[in-house]
Amino acid sequence: MDPLTSAVADAFTLLRQDLCQRLDDAESSSTSYEDWDEEDIDAARELIPHLVLVLRGLLLDHQMRPGGECRTCSVAWPCPVVALMHGLLKDPENQFPALTHRVHKER
Ligand SMILES: [Zn+2]
Repeated sequence: MDPLTSAVADAFTLLRQDLCQRLDDAESSSTSYEDWDEEDIDAARELIPHLVLVLRGLLLDHQMRPGGECRTCSVAWPCPVVALMHGLLKDPENQFPALTHRVHKER
């Protein structure tokens, strides 16, 4: 692997680790068995809108162009990102177990 490719691969690994750490932090506070104190409640009140904003940002980036394709993926809309989000948000009871399995398999 050439040095530039290696550096890019390292950067992608660091980016992925940073994103995963943020999600791990959010998940660990929400799955605590202890009663939440005011600090936990304040953190949740800050975190939930941030996570919703992330989803809204993804939807914004994957809007349909006038020609009918996704503005980011350049495939027919709804693109795989929007289709996946729609399924997860509309049918979480059926979609979450499979997603949870996939996520934990990747870790
Ligand atoms: Zn897309």
